[in-house]
Amino acid sequence: MRVLITGGAGFIGSFLTEKLVERGFDVIVIDNLSSGDLNRLKEVIDRVKFVRDDLKSLGNPGVFQGVDTVFHLAANPEVRISVTEPKIHFDENVLATFNVLELSRKYGVKTVVYASSSTVYGDAKTIPTPEDHPIQPISVYGAAKAAGEIMCGTYARLYGINCVTLRYANIVGPRLRHGVIYDLLMKLKRNPSELEVLGDGTQEKSYLYITDTIDATLKAWEYAMKNGGTYTYNVGNWDSISVGDIVNIVIKVSGMNPRVTYKPATPDGRGWPGDVKRMLLSIERIVKEVGWRPSMSSREAIELTAKSLAEELGV
Ligand code: NAD
Repeated sequence: MRVLITGGAGFIGSFLTEKLVERGFDVIVIDNLSSGDLNRLKEVIDRVKFVRDDLKSLGNPGVFQGVDTVFHLAANPEVRISVTEPKIHFDENVLATFNVLELSRKYGVKTVVYASSSTVYGDAKTIPTPEDHPIQPISVYGAAKAAGEIMCGTYARLYGINCVTLRYANIVGPRLRHGVIYDLLMKLKRNPSELEVLGDGTQEKSYLYITDTIDATLKAWEYAMKNGGTYTYNVGNWDSISVGDIVNIVIKVSGMNPRVTYKPATPDGRGWPGDVKRMLLSIERIVKEVGWRPSMSSREAIELTAKSLAEELGV
């Protein structure tokens, strides 16, 4: 079976590519290498068809020919940038998703697995947040992800494509090059004696390790292929952890002793305007329907990631 992974040279995409190659699928990767890196695919590069192309204006749309499933992971994942540069997020996350869906329709793709995000909920009123909670994003990134979800669902109803929307919590692991752990480690590398933290440290969010994420993604896909139809699942952890706790873990791993300052961007202590202060997704639906469950806690995921990133980044 032929599968296409957009953003396959990215953090999550590279682990997914490796797993699908290992399972014997015929894998095509499309990536424009904007935040992607071919080094992430070095173990499997001779066993995938890699196409360097931009989903905003695809030069080679024929690569969708004969594809059974598209895993659409390509995006600009920087929530912070979306607040100051909304157009980037419209182009990278809305236009690109529309193009992927249009080509999927044109070339008869059966299933689209869409990487959405917990940010679609905004400041959720119910914690843990279930999938049927209202969608009220507070960042343009979240709005772009929500727009992609609605388009994907509409293509499912209108054209019969199976659409699997996965609302990922914060995903962490080796090869990660954005987010809080990466930012803190890079700051410590530049200056071991000072550490400025975005927000007041009380932001509390849920983290999932990359191998658990790939396992959830593949199990949800297999479930959709077996049963047909359209599905939306939260993909996160049972628990959450505060930014303050993450700071302590990262400092311990680094072996440094910096002076820590917290820098809230809003009166209620957010890291930047559009930062969700508290995120914990209900994962009851995917656990009950699909039979997936996380193998480690948010804290364990952070600890493992901090150790491997410190090594990768030479901190
Ligand atoms: P990433 O930046 O590592 O990967 C994104 C990949 O997409 C990169 O390789 C990049 O080069 C590629 N890309 C971007 N724009 C492109 C374009 N126009 N054409 C072709 N390729 C393009 O990000 P990630 O953390 O691996 O995230 C993967 C997906 O999961 C994204 O859709 C992201 O929004 C979503 N997500 C990630 C997290 C997380 O915590 N990492 C959480 C929720 C949702």
